[in-house]
Formats: sequence, C-alpha cells, structure tokens
Amino acid sequence: MDPKITEVLVCPVCKGPLAVNKAGELVCTACRLAYGVKDGIPDMIEHNARTVSEEEAEKLRAARTAAPLDPL
Ligand SMILES: [Zn+2]
Repeated sequence: MDPKITEVLVCPVCKGPLAVNKAGELVCTACRLAYGVKDGIPDMIEHNARTVSEEEAEKLRAARTAAPLDPL
C-alpha cells in the first residue's frame, strides 16, 4: 500500500493521524483503533475497527516519532 495514504486519511472518530502497523492496518494511536485494509481499500468504519492494545499503540507512536514517513 502507498505509505502516503496515511497522510491523507485520518481517523473518522478523532480526525487524528493514522499509522500503518505490520499487518497493514491503519491504526489511530489516540483511539487505539485499527482499521483493516481489504484489496487496498481502507475500511474506515468505526464498528469494523479492531481495538489494539496500549502496548501496540505505544510502539506505533514511538515508531512514527522516530521516522514519520517510514512505514513499519
Ligand atoms: Zn482516532
């Protein structure tokens, strides 16, 4: 998936930025919600999102701070 997609997509709940995790999900570290991507199309429906652990969210926050444009 194009890493730039996270620059234009925001979390539908808080309008915050999204990070991409190893599974290719789009993760809002503020809400700790992971939005799935099917066939390259992000599913930005809150009810379909998976809740990630605080540990996973923290890892993604740290990774994004270290390299904001570098997907994991
Ligand atoms: Zn959010």
